[in-house]
Amino acid sequence: MAKDPVCGMDVDENKTDLKNEYKGKIYFFCNPSCKQTFEKNPEQYAQN
Ligand SMILES: [Zn+2]
Repeated sequence: MAKDPVCGMDVDENKTDLKNEYKGKIYFFCNPSCKQTFEKNPEQYAQN
């Protein structure tokens, strides 16, 4: 399981297409809204 960096939900990386690579690390999202939020301000969410 991966963790959605925006809302903190667990995301099954095998079942979602909602992902974004940022600085060499791949982040997964529970819904398109979380992905958009991340894309608007990745620095804020890509801490860990
Ligand atoms: Zn989410």
